[in-house]
Amino acid sequence: MTDEMIPVHEKDSMPFECCSENKCFNECCRDLNQVLTPYDILRLKRNLGISSHLFLKKYTSLHYGPGSGLPIVTFKPNPATGNECPFVTPKGCSVYEDRPGSCRLYPLARAITRDRETGEIDEYFALIEEDHCLGFGKQTNLTVRQWMDGQEVGLHNLHNDKLMELISLKNKILPGKLEGAQSDQFYLALYDLDEFRRQIFDHNLLADLGLPGSLLESLKNDDEALMDFGIGWVKNMLFGLELDLKG
Ligand code: SF4
Ligand code: SF4
Repeated sequence: MTDEMIPVHEKDSMPFECCSENKCFNECCRDLNQVLTPYDILRLKRNLGISSHLFLKKYTSLHYGPGSGLPIVTFKPNPATGNECPFVTPKGCSVYEDRPGSCRLYPLARAITRDRETGEIDEYFALIEEDHCLGFGKQTNLTVRQWMDGQEVGLHNLHNDKLMELISLKNKILPGKLEGAQSDQFYLALYDLDEFRRQIFDHNLLADLGLPGSLLESLKNDDEALMDFGIGWVKNMLFGLELDLKG
């Protein structure tokens, strides 16, 4: 068999079951070239109880899109284990509750389109049948949608779709390559949240914006609110769009 992508609908039945009894258990976590989204990093650093800065330094590599200059964060290969995920253990994933969205979706791939006028999102799915994965062909009673719900991937999709919207805005408004300082702002506000927070509160990064107290309070205490604000700040800094200052 060779690797295949098979389009599926959310109401189709899901012919797939992953369990620790499968001979391939953990194989999918041993040959990674995995991109991490800002929300993946937020959940992982919180799971580990460390700052985003330390998480990024310890576990990730930073690349830049060759045509876009956009920062791309991936798991860092470990010389001792090659492309094995740093969180795989003989018993499975050590950060299971906070594993990335792509780990939750695998072996499904998800793509979206957004209606320009209403902002409504349509989702498209495909099954990626890879030779190493032996979970296929096991009929469950679940539809693709029910299987996804069981993976609790909704919050990841919600936040990752905001990133996709930001990237498509960038492609529309600033189609060329970002300059170094623009890429740095994008990385700081989306990926290195704790450093962004430190720059705001210890180094007055946004002092000239006159942010209201209620907004400052939520940026201080709420990672998700800070990430959403970071997206708005990037839109403002890079594309000149108005920044929402409501708390
Ligand atoms: S985070 Fe967990 S599920 Fe994802 S690749 Fe690593 S060990 Fe596997
Ligand atoms: S290779 Fe497939 S069936 Fe095996 S553990 Fe990974 S996802 Fe599950």
